[in-house]
Amino acid sequence: MNLPEAGELLAKEAARYTAMGWMRGSSGNLSVRLRDEPLRLAVTASGLDKGELTAADVVEIDSSGAAVGPGVPSAEAGLHARIAAVSGARAVVHVHVHAPVLAAERWPDGVQLRDMEMLKGFGRSAHDDLVTIPVVPNSQDMVVLGDSFEAGHRADTPALIVARHGLYVWGADLTQARHRTECLEWLLRFIMAV
Ligand SMILES: [Zn+2]
Repeated sequence: MNLPEAGELLAKEAARYTAMGWMRGSSGNLSVRLRDEPLRLAVTASGLDKGELTAADVVEIDSSGAAVGPGVPSAEAGLHARIAAVSGARAVVHVHVHAPVLAAERWPDGVQLRDMEMLKGFGRSAHDDLVTIPVVPNSQDMVVLGDSFEAGHRADTPALIVARHGLYVWGADLTQARHRTECLEWLLRFIMAV
C-alpha cells in the first residue's frame, strides 16, 4: 500500500468513527502499515476534524513515531508504531470512547470479560475464555506509554485501555480493527451496566 492509498482508507474510516461519535473534538487517530522493514506506518495528521479528512491528511512515520515525510503526525503516533512493532498489527485504531475509560476507573488492574457472544467478534471464544483487557496509566510520553503497553501485551488480546484517556485496538487491517473495536466497546458498555 502506498501513502495516498493509505490516506484514502484512513479518511474513509475516520469519517465512519466520527459518525459514530467516537472521534469528538479532533480526538483519536488511525494508522495502517505501509512497510515492514524498516517499519513504516501511515497515520492520520494531527489536530484535524476527523470527519473531514482527505486522502492528503496523512503522515508517514517510522518505528519511533517520527515523521519521515511532510506533515505533522498525531502526538500519539509513537504508541501506534510501538503497538504495530510489538504485535505485528497492520492497522491500529485509537478512539476516545467512554465505556473503556469508565471500566478502567473501576478495574485499574485490567478489565475482565468472559462468557459473552460478542467476544467472538473480538477474536476470542464466547465461553470459558477469560479475556483481560490491560489498563495502563495515561502519560504524555509515548515511550512511557509504549513500555507500559509492552509489559502487559498478550498476542491473543489486541486491545489496550489508557486510563482517563481512551482505547487502542488493532488487527490485520482497518476493517478487522474496526470490528474488534465495535465489539469491545459493546462488551465494555455491558459490564459497566450490569
Ligand atoms: Zn488519545
